[in-house]
Amino acid sequence: MKKAYEMWTDFENMTQNKFLWKTGMLLVDKGDGRNVKPVKDKLDELGYPNTTYSSEDLRKHFPTINFKDHIGLFDHDGGVLDVHNIFKSLLLLIDKLGGKIQTGVKVQNICPGTEVTLTTNRGKYRAKKVVLTTGPWTADITKSLELSLPLRVKAATVWFWKEKKFGSYSLDTGFPVFADYNIESWNDFIYAVPCYEYPNMLKLHMHHTIEHSIHPDYRDAQVGEAVAKITKKLTAYVREHFPYLEEEPSIVQRCMTTMTPDYDFILDKHPMWDNIVIGAGFSGHGFKLSPLIGKLLANMVLEKPITIDMKPFKISRFQKATWKFSKL
Ligand SMILES: Cc1cc2nc3c(=O)[nH]c(=O)nc-3n(C[C@H](O)[C@H](O)[C@H](O)COP(=O)(O)OP(=O)(O)OC[C@H]3O[C@@H](n4cnc5c(N)ncnc54)[C@H](O)[C@@H]3O)c2cc1C
Repeated sequence: MKKAYEMWTDFENMTQNKFLWKTGMLLVDKGDGRNVKPVKDKLDELGYPNTTYSSEDLRKHFPTINFKDHIGLFDHDGGVLDVHNIFKSLLLLIDKLGGKIQTGVKVQNICPGTEVTLTTNRGKYRAKKVVLTTGPWTADITKSLELSLPLRVKAATVWFWKEKKFGSYSLDTGFPVFADYNIESWNDFIYAVPCYEYPNMLKLHMHHTIEHSIHPDYRDAQVGEAVAKITKKLTAYVREHFPYLEEEPSIVQRCMTTMTPDYDFILDKHPMWDNIVIGAGFSGHGFKLSPLIGKLLANMVLEKPITIDMKPFKISRFQKATWKFSKL
């Protein structure tokens, strides 16, 4: 994360834009705070500034959230990335640097070899090297390369809740990223991102909101019952803790996460064809690290040295993989 932060700043400077708002991140828990303790220990170990809050401190510092017997941990370096502007600026930069962006081109088959042939809906492409970053479709594509990856694609849902009182939870007024780690009550952790994506709407949802494994071509199939159940839980949560939000969500959006058994990424070369590099399985936490991930994949394909330990990201670790979280 330290390296990724530096790279986000470089990207901001390069494009004369602002993408990262360091709002801080507030984690809350009940009782002795055992669920936030590992986070505090990690922040302390890495030297990231953080503050612990009592219930009384929480009420004082965050008057728009209702806390009763909670304690809090504030990670001063947490923040929000402006994803839409990042993509816009990235596309412009690629174009400016002479890269070629082709949209609507679907790779239908990959034929490996010293030269790789990609068959697409718009003809054939040949390349000496290929980097595959096909997200939820990766397991499908790698099957044609005789590689079976233990990836599970999960349907996920996000909810946006409108402010009743303008500015109560917004980025502009300094509301932080929020997570309730009181997992025992909700069987998941709940988190919120301050209003910015849609005006005056707080994104608040459950971290996993895991409904079922899906095929990415059928993301929205069989959603009704599971989403309704979680919406009901979240509505109760909003009513109890966020008094300045409307009690019903205004926008419900569908998306997907691609999970590996251990939640760590795949950043590796194909075991048989080392001119095919794979970046996949970002398990719901890949975006913040994307500048660094891009750099690592580029170094792999250009045969440049890599100074960080890549063992946790190797495909070979799955030979004895068991799924870390039974829910997945
Ligand atoms: C609700 C939600 C919240 C999240 N929150 C966070 C967060 O707070 N922090 C964080 O760091 N990350 C977060 N993530 C995770 C992050 O968004 C992902 O890790 C990241 O976007 C994965 O990027 P990717 O490039 O692997 O896949 P994608 O972004 O899915 O890109 C894959 C691309 O490959 C293309 N493709 C697929 N198949 C083919 C084909 N055959 N031919 C041509 N193109 C193809 C697709 O069209 C797509 O453009 C979240 C994800 C979700 C769903």
